[in-house]
Order: sequence, then structure tokens, then C-alpha cells
Amino acid sequence: MTLAIGVDVGGTKVAAGVVDEAGRIIAKLKRSTPAASPLRTEQAIADVVTELLAGRQVAAIGLGAAGFVDRERATMLFAPNLAWRDEPLKQRVEERLGRAVVVENDANASAWAEARFGAARGYRDVMLVAVGTGIGAAIITGGELYRGRWGIAGEPGHVRVVADGRLCGCGNRGCWEQYASGNALVAEAREFARRTPVGAMRLLQLGGGVPEGISGPEITRAATEGDPAALRCFQTVGGWLGQGLADLAAILDPACFVIGGGVSEAGDLLLDPARAAYERALTGRGHRPFTEIRVAQLGQDAGIVGAADLARQASQGPVSENIAAQTTAPSSPSSGPPGPLGSGSLIRSTSMANPATNAATAQNAARPDTDQSAAVATTR
Ligand SMILES: [Zn+2]
Repeated sequence: MTLAIGVDVGGTKVAAGVVDEAGRIIAKLKRSTPAASPLRTEQAIADVVTELLAGRQVAAIGLGAAGFVDRERATMLFAPNLAWRDEPLKQRVEERLGRAVVVENDANASAWAEARFGAARGYRDVMLVAVGTGIGAAIITGGELYRGRWGIAGEPGHVRVVADGRLCGCGNRGCWEQYASGNALVAEAREFARRTPVGAMRLLQLGGGVPEGISGPEITRAATEGDPAALRCFQTVGGWLGQGLADLAAILDPACFVIGGGVSEAGDLLLDPARAAYERALTGRGHRPFTEIRVAQLGQDAGIVGAADLARQASQGPVSENIAAQTTAPSSPSSGPPGPLGSGSLIRSTSMANPATNAATAQNAARPDTDQSAAVATTR
């Protein structure tokens, strides 16, 4: 059993784990991130890795970091919540550790983990949309991470959806993440409480009596209790989310959207309105399969698991046995929830019978020119 270490470097914490080939974390550590100092953050990374390495045979080390990682997976170009600017992160951490590391964007790492071991297992065309404070995302196409020319593809949170809309942290106005993120949910609830205090009674009660006291967990709690105001906030934000997913489907046509991030923990409170809006907004609806929209399964561990797995794959080169699992064609749309290989319904609409899809999937999986190192499904 080959072990790898994955490190998830966020704005507030460095979390690292030893991960086996099946994506299981067998040891884990957490430190707070000295975010203001690139050098101290790098030292914190080296420290947790050194601690996890003690007494273990580890084949590879991967870092998943919140920011723009260049295509060579070496330099952190820009990190909104950390002090890294054109930081040669790979080199700096390798100098400290005396061995090779792989650097990856954290959303890419999470998407990889979900496609290999989580909600999108068995799918080769996957988009992860992480709904947290903002919106993070990653694209897997044909079983490979899509990085773009400079490594920074997959930032749909900053696609403008409202002309002259809300001001975004990126400097533009009307970005999707200002309408479909955790921040948007909180903004909706506070605005509603200011406008209609009587209607927002429960939200205000949970928020300590003032609109500014209302945050994500309070809104989720109130919605779970059936509070109409909180449910309305989820309707609004989920609606924006679903519309955006339909726009993304217009470009990418993925088999599966995985919704991760903190807000996804609200589950169907968010996903029901998102699915409804998606189905209303999808171009050519009724004449194409509906993409699966699923909640992420690996939670906060996804970054660790994905970074470790990507590093292991990079160290091993092509893994030919992975591709074999791809020949598992999806079963009938009416067969209920997907099996352990994610081989359930690709299609939610019964108007699109699936033999063609099955054939295409099987054909795709069997294609001899497919990059075998990038297979995302595996039997365990
Ligand atoms: Zn923006």
C-alpha cells in the first residue's frame, strides 16, 4: 500500500494527512496558518509534513493551496487570503523538506478527490462548485483536470451575472459569487431582516436581535425548522446557483456537478432550489440529459485526499489499471441511486433514453488514446 501526504493550505489553517491508495486518511494534523508571512506559512507546511513523515514510508507529497497556481504547478501566482504573490512555493517547501512536492490549487485537489473517491466517482466530466464565503471551482474533463493556458481556469465565481450589480472583492460588479455564495445568503437574510423585522423574527432571534448577528449557521438552522424567511433566502441563493450551473453546462456539458464548500452542508435546502432553477434555465431542456447535481461527500478532507492522490499519480506516472473501471457504463435512469462506482443515472429526464449515452461512455472509456494517468474512477 503506497502512502502519500496531502496538505490543505487555507487562509486560516494548514491541515495535512497521510492518505492511502483508497483515499483513506490514516493520520491527520492541523495548524493555524501564519497567513501574513509567506515564509512562516511555508515553515508551517514543512513542520506538519515532517511530523507526519516520522517513521513512515511515504511515496509523494502534495500541497493544495487556496490561490492561483501556475501551470507548472510550482509557483503560487496570487492568493486572495494569503500573502503569496508570485511565490515559488514548490521550491521553497522542497528546500525545507529535502524532497519533491507537487503544488495544486485547492479546488482542483478537492474536485480530484471527489471524482476519484467521492460524490463523482466513476465520472470523467465533472465540475466542482465550492459554495463557501465565495465560489471556488474546478473542471475535470475527459478524466483530466483542466487548468487552462496559465493554470488558473475554473473561476466562474467571477463571471458577471448582473450588470452593475453588487461590488465583488475582485473589483468588478455583479459577479456570480455575490449572488450564489455563503456571503450572498447572509446578505439576503440581513437585508430581509432590516426590511421586514416581523417576517424575520426567528432569524433575528437566533442572531441576537440584530440583522448583523445573522450568519450562515443561523440561517440554516432556521430553514431546517421551516422558517419561511430563511427558506426564502435559500430559494433566492439556490436559484442563482442553479442558473449559474445551467450557464456552465452550456459551456462544459459535464456529467456531474459536485457542490462542495460550507454552504453545501445545508444539503437539499440549497440543492432543491438550485436543481429547480437549473432545470428551468438549461438551454435545450427536454432534449438533453440533465446533469447530476450532487453534494460533495468528502467534506473538509477533500483537499488533503486530492492533493495526496495527485502527488502519488505524479510520482508513479500513468496508472493503466485505473482505466479498466471506466468501462462500467451507467445503468438505466430508473435504477435509483448510483452504486458504489457512481454508475447510476447520468440522466434525470426520462425523455432521453440512455442507450446512446451508455454506448458513448463505454466507447470513451475504451478509447486507446485516452490518457490513462488521468482516469478518475477506480475499483477498490
Ligand atoms: Zn468578482
